[in-house]
Amino acid sequence: MQHQASLFGSMSDALSVCSKAVQEGVPAELQQRAGRLFADVEQCARCPRMCGRTRVLGPQNGSLRARILFVAEAPGRLGAERSGIPLQGDQTGRNFEVLLAQTGLTRAEVFITNAVLCNPQDTSGNNAPPRQAETDQCLVHLKETIDLIAPEVVVSLGRVALESLRKIGPHDVTLQDVGRIVPWYGRALLALYHPGARARIHRPLPQQLLDMAVLSGYINRGAADGSARQI
Ligand code: SF4
Repeated sequence: MQHQASLFGSMSDALSVCSKAVQEGVPAELQQRAGRLFADVEQCARCPRMCGRTRVLGPQNGSLRARILFVAEAPGRLGAERSGIPLQGDQTGRNFEVLLAQTGLTRAEVFITNAVLCNPQDTSGNNAPPRQAETDQCLVHLKETIDLIAPEVVVSLGRVALESLRKIGPHDVTLQDVGRIVPWYGRALLALYHPGARARIHRPLPQQLLDMAVLSGYINRGAADGSARQI
């Protein structure tokens, strides 16, 4: 399944329109770097059980100049595996959209990716957690994505993302630190719970909305002092 942008290859008309809109004004050099990364990911075959899965990384993930970069766990079978758009098309995606709406940001203003870029499935075809080897193999893509976007804040959604980020840049953040913004890897790190149904058991929606309000506060402070780059 091809999901790279018209800037970089073929994809559906809907994704192409979305991608062009969010990459307007992006320097050509940055677009070229992004194109190389997306092409590398499209051809990636590091994880044997991911053969034939959608590689969910491309312009449809958001703005190349985003100030905020979200990292979730993995594309979902009923969501990004079908849509090619991270955190979109399934219940987890709808939960995330409720949380994102609270910040006043749109998908076109942020960048969303995952610790692994392909949908892990068990032998019955259901969503499965990514294996340690798979998150390790996909680290190279996650690091390159962070370096490419160069966001001010990286927001981890859940434990798996937090652990992958720890291997890119050391930190001592756990899910006990949810809602606390800390310096990390030359930028800021905010740990939040995953928006999926399982995490809601431990962190119900009202608490997750309060957690996300920390990000809203950060964004608004940036807007007030004129430091906002993208928003
Ligand atoms: S999960 Fe990442 S490392 Fe594994 S095949 Fe997909 S893109 Fe490659």
